[in-house]
Amino acid sequence: MYDEDELLPLSAISQYGYCPRRAGLVLLEQGWADNIHTAEGTAQHERVHEGGRESRANMAELFGVAVRSLTLGLSGKADSLELSADPSGCPIRGMDGLWLVRPVEYKHGKVRHEHEYEMQLCAQAMCLEEMLGCSIPEGDLFYYNDHRRFAVSFTAALRADVRMAAEALHQLVRSGVMPQSLKSRKCRECSLVDICMPGLRDRSTVYRERLRLIASGKEDPL
Ligand code: SF4
Repeated sequence: MYDEDELLPLSAISQYGYCPRRAGLVLLEQGWADNIHTAEGTAQHERVHEGGRESRANMAELFGVAVRSLTLGLSGKADSLELSADPSGCPIRGMDGLWLVRPVEYKHGKVRHEHEYEMQLCAQAMCLEEMLGCSIPEGDLFYYNDHRRFAVSFTAALRADVRMAAEALHQLVRSGVMPQSLKSRKCRECSLVDICMPGLRDRSTVYRERLRLIASGKEDPL
């Protein structure tokens, strides 16, 4: 169990799922840079995180809900919780009755399969389960650009990925060691590419290797 002052931002789960070095740049060096994708996503999220509640009949939707887990050592905000009245549900503070809870995370772009988003949504569900003492089997990723949902089942494997990522993030902060860059196709879409400079690492690796070969007499310095 973590203390309150040890909690890390839940959004770092998504960063870690995308690339461990990206999470390291954000957590250890407070590095951030927007590209067109992150800027649009931030603007869309700001509207959701303004908070509030909508209710109709036996359904309700809460926006911008603070969540945390002392077990995972994470805190953050869930974009939206869809509640449906059900005798097998759990009590929600400020609301009468019992409710089933379904987290919905809003994402920029078109429907696509992004494991790091599924991890982030699952982490929100695990926080809520700890806070509310309930079970949450599924949630949704809602994609703004085509106004469609992608249902995510919180399987044992996905939950294990979240636990592993949360532990890795805490280890990263404890050690202060920046994960190495691994140049991949993801770098083309990564807003931190100019801070990370993955190509530079590749060049410096080649340079160090050449120095090693020269020092061992296996390569001519000229
Ligand atoms: S540029 Fe590539 S290696 Fe660097 S943080 Fe982004 S995805 Fe990771």
